[in-house]
Amino acid sequence: MEAKRTAIMNFTPKDLAALLEDWGEPTYRAQQIFEWVYQKRADSFETMTNLPQDLRKKLAQEFVVNSLHVVETVSSSDGSRKFLIALADGMSVETVAIPHRDRLTVCVSSQVGCPVGCPFCATGQAGFKRNLEPSEIVGQVWLVAKQLDRRVDNLVFMGMGEPLLNYDNLCQALLTLNAPWGMGIGARRITISTVGVPPVILKLAEDWPELRLAVSLQSPFPEVRDYLVPLNRVYSLRSLLDALKIYITRVRHRVTIEYTLWEGVNDRIKDAYELVKLLRGLNVFVNLIPGNRVDGLPFLPPSPARVKKFYNILKENGMEVSIRLSRGQDIEAACGNLYRIHGLERGLGRP
Ligand code: SF4
Repeated sequence: MEAKRTAIMNFTPKDLAALLEDWGEPTYRAQQIFEWVYQKRADSFETMTNLPQDLRKKLAQEFVVNSLHVVETVSSSDGSRKFLIALADGMSVETVAIPHRDRLTVCVSSQVGCPVGCPFCATGQAGFKRNLEPSEIVGQVWLVAKQLDRRVDNLVFMGMGEPLLNYDNLCQALLTLNAPWGMGIGARRITISTVGVPPVILKLAEDWPELRLAVSLQSPFPEVRDYLVPLNRVYSLRSLLDALKIYITRVRHRVTIEYTLWEGVNDRIKDAYELVKLLRGLNVFVNLIPGNRVDGLPFLPPSPARVKKFYNILKENGMEVSIRLSRGQDIEAACGNLYRIHGLERGLGRP
């Protein structure tokens, strides 16, 4: 049986230089190797022609450049592309490429499945399998850049999973995604989307103050939020808002509030007024997102007229608000849908 090789994307240049030194190699080789991996997107050590043949062989025995591969791609008429990506252990995640003018945004997953279990979400309903390794988070971005042969400008952690429940691996991945020796994506161009883990939001303000934060609020009423976002039973709406106040004071930039609208559940007039009350005085921007229907789940997107009414109440009450239409409407746009439909059918995602 072949020995398990280490993912080189879990290493920093410093870690790799120390290992190369142990091997009796000059430490500058680490920089050369990462140039091949991240700038030239080489997918094998064999192609790294400025390294000695013996070193290339040894690296190939010990390391793998990227153990992820694309098993399914679905393209939308609006230009976005959804990738079902298989991991080395046979599990899978979804990653989405969203081109907009001359920029490319990639929507990344942070876990296989999700432990939060929101009842309207395809990922949440498929259950939780495991956290992604740093190399598996970075690997998704790298793979999309390689597939499309272009650099990635923006990242959003809005794919499968709750990124703040995989914080250590998230932070290690962010180092590589952000560093000039890695994917080189500016911290201000990276958005972490969370349903709200207050103690980790405060840590994020210390560790990564330049990142952008989006919080999925889903309801201003604690009992409705308990149902829509079960993590609310652990971290109350009040504790989330308290953490957001501190976060905004520390990072000094605006937070996005994501609010997915479901007919009759959280799109009522009283929801809009309560939301205004809750967010008044906070430096936030509200994104209203008409929900994407998932087969077998009882949640329906509201009519455009209901969405507009909700929007108008927020606007007339001084909120900064927009209606965000989700991209990829024709390719099972809801997060986790491709994984749920195709991945589980193929056995990807089963342990
Ligand atoms: S909406 Fe987000 S937090 Fe909720 S189950 Fe889906 S992936 Fe998890």
